[in-house]
Amino acid sequence: MSILVVGSIALDTIETPTDRREDVLGGSATYFSLAASHFNPVLLVGVVGTDFPEEGIQLFHSHDIDLAGLQQVDGKTFRWSGRYHADVNVRDTLDTQLNVFESFSPAIPVQYKSASHLFLANIHPALQLEVLDQVTDPRVVIADTMNLWIESSSDQLREVIERTDIFLLSDSEARQLTEESNLLLAARRLLSWGPEHVIIKKGEHGAMLVNDGGTFFAPGYPLETVVDPTGAGDVFAGGLTGYLSRSDTVTDDRLRQAVIYGSALASYNVEDFGPERLKDLTMDRVVERVNHFKSFTTF
Ligand code: AMP
Repeated sequence: MSILVVGSIALDTIETPTDRREDVLGGSATYFSLAASHFNPVLLVGVVGTDFPEEGIQLFHSHDIDLAGLQQVDGKTFRWSGRYHADVNVRDTLDTQLNVFESFSPAIPVQYKSASHLFLANIHPALQLEVLDQVTDPRVVIADTMNLWIESSSDQLREVIERTDIFLLSDSEARQLTEESNLLLAARRLLSWGPEHVIIKKGEHGAMLVNDGGTFFAPGYPLETVVDPTGAGDVFAGGLTGYLSRSDTVTDDRLRQAVIYGSALASYNVEDFGPERLKDLTMDRVVERVNHFKSFTTF
């Protein structure tokens, strides 16, 4: 099994109520890959500029992330900047500079095309469709999005959703996309557009999985200190996809377990800036938190 991801690779500037960091390694594909690499080989497709630091490349190498699909082109790497409020669930985007991402066209290397699991991270839905047209029948297609694409490219996004097995989005995005304020009804509407499963991410309040079999809720892992929530959604997706890639089929049980693995990994990621906490995270520590989830949800 192998996991193909196409998404952004970024240098982020992050402001929290108490701190500020510049040029932190980020991007949806970066966070996803570091999390998913705990489970199976990850094949990364994305673009960076000539300013992309060698430490970033080394970090990918140290997690055995395959970079044959990483384009390095003249120009600056994609940059994003955000500020968190005291309530860390609230974030303002301060700046987005597409830079080399503006002319990015995902070219899937021939040896990646038969990957068993495909994650379409948060990028323009037109690019997500380009990827879908290049791969050969992956077992599982998982996709994510963001408010920007809901506002600017909803028709293309609908097409992506139709071709997706598991669709992930945040609670506010689910409400915005479906124009339905009740989350369960919003999830049901999304299911009627094609995917077999919908997962609604609710930040520190956890995640909700909805499919024909019913509904499953995972709480957020209770943490006393959250340093930087950037990338939590992508790390969640990496843990979820990674866990699913360890077996041939997506059963409801496996999917529920995958949601918990994703949540455990995401809970580590928010404990430090950027992907810092993921650098030397071991599977033993992840499993420790998976077991805590059991203890605080059993009654
Ligand atoms: P999350 O906190 O899960 O929403 O992910 C944050 C990451 O998404 C950051 O590292 C950003 O670099 C990246 N990001 C922000 N805006 C965009 C965008 N328009 N397209 C692609 N990636 C983005």
